[in-house]
Amino acid sequence: MTTTPRRTNLPPNVRSIVDEIETEMGEVPFRAATQIEGDGSHADAHGRVEAAVREILVEIGEDPDREGLAGTPGRVHRMYTELTAGYHVDPERLINDAIFDVAYSEMVVVKEIPFYSLCEHHLLPFFGTAAVAYIPRGRVIGLSKIPRVVEMYARRLQVQERMTQQIAEFLQERLEPQGVGVVIEATHLCAVMRGVRKPGTVMTTSSVLGLFRTRDRTRAEFFAHLERGGPARP
Ligand SMILES: [Zn+2]
Repeated sequence: MTTTPRRTNLPPNVRSIVDEIETEMGEVPFRAATQIEGDGSHADAHGRVEAAVREILVEIGEDPDREGLAGTPGRVHRMYTELTAGYHVDPERLINDAIFDVAYSEMVVVKEIPFYSLCEHHLLPFFGTAAVAYIPRGRVIGLSKIPRVVEMYARRLQVQERMTQQIAEFLQERLEPQGVGVVIEATHLCAVMRGVRKPGTVMTTSSVLGLFRTRDRTRAEFFAHLERGGPARP
């Protein structure tokens, strides 16, 4: 098992998110839950990020010392470490024995996977859903792992196009399937909050590899799955 070099010395709030992505539900150490909501006292209250956020507040004409803003630099620092926790996820721990040899060669589709990411151009959120499909070549991955792969790449500074490709390439490398298809639909706050206001603008990106790229029928089957609604709800 390989270990990413940066995983030691993570602040507890980041550690708990990384643990959550890497491990199955219920395996997360008990300490995790409380620390996400913790006061962040582990963070250096006078660190460089705090100083920079303070600087921004002054620059936009605010008083960083007024009551409501006093804790803001520390909160923003903590928030960014949490929203970018994906950099610290160890893919080996995430996969962790969840690849199985199965003689199944039909399309596997996991859709409506919600995610929240940060656009690297504006540090504003973009969010929506991902759909991931693949056609196994003798190996499948545990179903619960696919949303974690999405989460690993979403919790970074991203552009939607790259995130879509990274998810597809990750599965291509790990599973060596006959093909992979990923479609992401997202709303970018940098687009809807700034300039021309077009609420509801959704950007769609796709990445198709292997049979999803070369065979029209496969691609059509994938997109037909996406158009179909989810299971009927009572
Ligand atoms: Zn942006």
